[in-house]
Amino acid sequence: MQGDIIQMLPDSIANQIAAGEVIQRPAYAVKELLENAIDAQATKINLVIEDAGKQLIQVVDNGVGMSELDARMSFERHATSKLRHINDLSSIRSMGFRGEALASIAAVSEVVLKTRRADQELGVHLCVENSKVVKQEPCACAVGTTLIMKNLFFNVPARKNFLKSTSVEMRYIIDEFIHIAIPFYDIAFTCTHNDKEIFNLPRASLKQRIINVLGSTYQTKLIPINESTNYVRITGFVGKPETVKKTRGEQYIFINNRFIKNHSINHAVIHAFDRMIEKDTYPIYFLFLELDPKDVDVNVHPTKQEIKFADDKLIYAFVQSAVRHALASYRVLPGIDFTLDAQMQQTDALTQSLTNAKREETKNTDIYKVFTNKNQAHLLDNNEASRKLELENWHNFFENTSKKNNDPSTIEAQPDVQLQSLYPLHDLPNEMVSTFFQVGQCYIFVLQTNKAWIVHQQYAHERVLYEKLIALQKNDDYQTVSKPLLFPVTVDISLSDQYILTDLLPSFRQYGFDIDFFGKHSVIIRSIPATLNIGDEKELLESVIDNCKEHFKKDIDQTVLKQQLAIWIAKKKSIKLHTPLSPVAMSNLWQDLLTCDIPAFSPEGYPCFIECTSEFLQKFFVC
Ligand code: ADP
Ligand code: MG
Repeated sequence: MQGDIIQMLPDSIANQIAAGEVIQRPAYAVKELLENAIDAQATKINLVIEDAGKQLIQVVDNGVGMSELDARMSFERHATSKLRHINDLSSIRSMGFRGEALASIAAVSEVVLKTRRADQELGVHLCVENSKVVKQEPCACAVGTTLIMKNLFFNVPARKNFLKSTSVEMRYIIDEFIHIAIPFYDIAFTCTHNDKEIFNLPRASLKQRIINVLGSTYQTKLIPINESTNYVRITGFVGKPETVKKTRGEQYIFINNRFIKNHSINHAVIHAFDRMIEKDTYPIYFLFLELDPKDVDVNVHPTKQEIKFADDKLIYAFVQSAVRHALASYRVLPGIDFTLDAQMQQTDALTQSLTNAKREETKNTDIYKVFTNKNQAHLLDNNEASRKLELENWHNFFENTSKKNNDPSTIEAQPDVQLQSLYPLHDLPNEMVSTFFQVGQCYIFVLQTNKAWIVHQQYAHERVLYEKLIALQKNDDYQTVSKPLLFPVTVDISLSDQYILTDLLPSFRQYGFDIDFFGKHSVIIRSIPATLNIGDEKELLESVIDNCKEHFKKDIDQTVLKQQLAIWIAKKKSIKLHTPLSPVAMSNLWQDLLTCDIPAFSPEGYPCFIECTSEFLQKFFVC
């Protein structure tokens, strides 16, 4: 019979497993190290990255430093100077408190630590490998701490293989850096990657820090927010309504200076903008909520981006109110909303400390209900739901329709050939068609004696543009592929978006775009594909980057990207529904469509037209 088989795991293995939760990728290590420097009251923090953190991450701070014993202790699991008692959790003000980060980092990389406190003449120099101190000696160094981690995952090859390309990992790092650099605007930061300076941020005001980080266009985009109650203080900025974006990118919420994601707060902001912005667009915002640590639980998730509030609904109402107030003060919101806000300001909930009794009382006030009841504007209204239903029915109406699918991996698995087999194209007209009608400025009726086609003008045009782009790409002669702009267009672009663009550039160039980086925060577009009309180059570039952000969370496959790029461009530049078309324009579009390899479907698989033969029409009249 087999004997007892359970054994305790050695510390080094246990640490490596636990490290997986905290250090999933270089960006998490960057976040933890920057947070440690902040907790150590540094006023200057330098971050050095090599090979997107896979080779090296170094953080140099001028904080309080550590004693020799603390330095050794800091690499032990659950070793922290920030939490002594479980009750301390409810008053925690530091960024870290779990005592896990350095232990995790030391379990999965080679670490060098140099640190000195102001009251000590010499500092200590430690080298740690596989969670063991392999070298310790006194050293002369400045007050503060330098922590270098090299060779991430050198001892866990499976994890190392899991890391993404340099540009993807760098985007994660930049995001984490920005999430820390913005709220701690009174700390000077630098960041370099492979010896290239990416950020050099002096101490500044919040607004100036945002501008330094995200680009000078923010100078004119922001409306300040400043509301205070005993329960919560809300400061920061919202973007003017005209600065909305197509993705959630520039939306930042910080609770007690910690970056978080919170659906409810995001919703509150969107609804404060109400009808000022279009559906499916996202306002820019930088919101800083300060509240008593006891009213917020930051302990929900190890990487701490999700948190719980003691009272979600109150936070929702406060945020919405604060944003409305800001918009109203800047006269971008009609006065009537301001009255609502004034009322809000006087509710007890805003002017007095919250007790449970008060909270109950508040919940019964009308103003509270406005923000929290069902059937209020911020919840999906019936109209919207039925509109969506109508749209779905419209699609069911088409026969042989392949489902829309935005997932690039299935786009690959669903080549045009497959679409073609869904719709046998033996019957397309080969003679000139006589009559064109446009219905509702959306659908083109192409009429012949024996047959008619109802064409979806946008899908049809997407197909035409898409195939023209694909054809360009096969052409080696750059002169014929490309059309120079008389006035090159410059576009502001954030640093993390620049990494996305780096991946996109080869594909852009194949379609005849001449795009280059230009200065620190912008790019210049000099040429566009010969088959596109000139105009809206800036919007096109921004929308492609936004799309890329949404679709390619992981590594980008260049072949898939190239095809996807043609689809995005075709969609952006296509004739939209509700555009009036002249008979000539309709005829041209129809003729262009008929020269396509796959005229029946848009590049995303939507049908471009319905063919109406007498048999087809008959179906509608049979009882
Ligand atoms: P936590 O931050 O949750 O306490 P860490 O593993 O990140 O856990 O750090 C462990 C301890 O090491 C900290 O509590 C702190 O006392 C010390 N420490 C880490 N980094 C620094 C630093 N840059 N300067 C001074 N002390 C530090
Ligand atoms: Mg820490």
